[in-house]
Amino acid sequence: VNTFELVRPRHVDEALAALDADDPSVRPVGGGTALMLMMKQKLFQPTRLVWLQSLENDLRGIRVDEQGGLRVGALTPLCDLEKSPEVARIAPVLSQALKTLASVRIRNAATIGGHIAHADPHMDLPPILLGSGARVQAMSSRGSRWIELAELFRGYYETSLQRDELLTELAIPALPDDVRGAYQKCTSISADDWPTLGVAVFFAVEEGRLGQVRVVVSAATEKPVRLAAVEQLLTGERPTELLLQAAGDMASTQIQPLPDIRGTIAYKREMARVYVRRALEVALQAQQKGV
Ligand SMILES: Cc1cc2nc3c(=O)[nH]c(=O)nc-3n(C[C@H](O)[C@H](O)[C@H](O)COP(=O)(O)OP(=O)(O)OC[C@H]3O[C@@H](n4cnc5c(N)ncnc54)[C@H](O)[C@@H]3O)c2cc1C
Repeated sequence: VNTFELVRPRHVDEALAALDADDPSVRPVGGGTALMLMMKQKLFQPTRLVWLQSLENDLRGIRVDEQGGLRVGALTPLCDLEKSPEVARIAPVLSQALKTLASVRIRNAATIGGHIAHADPHMDLPPILLGSGARVQAMSSRGSRWIELAELFRGYYETSLQRDELLTELAIPALPDDVRGAYQKCTSISADDWPTLGVAVFFAVEEGRLGQVRVVVSAATEKPVRLAAVEQLLTGERPTELLLQAAGDMASTQIQPLPDIRGTIAYKREMARVYVRRALEVALQAQQKGV
């Protein structure tokens, strides 16, 4: 029998004090949807779990900051984000993606902090957040710091968070008015499965040419990655059918896919070719309609 200590902190300080910089078997629990699965599969056996649900008053909530961006407490469940009119207005791509992420039951329990900290490359929201220029606040007994998402995701289930750090807040900047985006995912096992590939794109069309381009690919790769070469190919160009096709072709060669039950390397490259072009087309249509 695996026994472990369960700590129910009353304040963030108590939670921080219960974490341990040197012990990987001490973990905070947000919604528990990922952690419990790993415990059931015996991939993870804790010595101590720090139950964050008791910190809802401090860490749950969505607000608009002074710059018009979003601030989201780490313990905010995904369903709150899904239903939020502020998220729909300020981060419409994120809002849309939430509707097709896992199931209602998972979205009710899973927290945004756990979603990000878990660093499973198959997650839907990290590529969108990365493309949006989001950052997170990490706190420990030693103090707090802000981390750009591009710096947070280090590799397969790997972040730059220290073991005694807690994610407390997510900041998503408001996109410039003329920037539009799209998220497209490919699910190869069933429609509601985790993505085989996720693609988030953002850009503005300035005098008929593409600017402020961000192209992020995830799920097929070990972590969400911005495709700098593809962004460069698109920047300053007119969004013709040929250009979008060339962007898809380039994306398929730029990514380093990992083979798994959802597809081979060749399959994932092919999906990148199709889905990068498709995401660009969808965002372009949104731009033209002004949505
Ligand atoms: C059946 C099923 C289907 C799914 N399908 C999808 C899908 O289609 N798309 C998708 O994107 N996701 C999917 N998921 C994954 C789901 O999104 C994640 O399990 C969830 O977001 C994790 O959040 P949580 O709060 O439950 O994390 P937890 O399980 O509580 O924690 C996950 C990890 O993060 C750490 N952690 C938690 N909170 C914090 C914090 N505040 N600070 C620091 N570390 C923290 C924990 O210690 C743990 O290591 C699915 C999950 C399941 C079980």
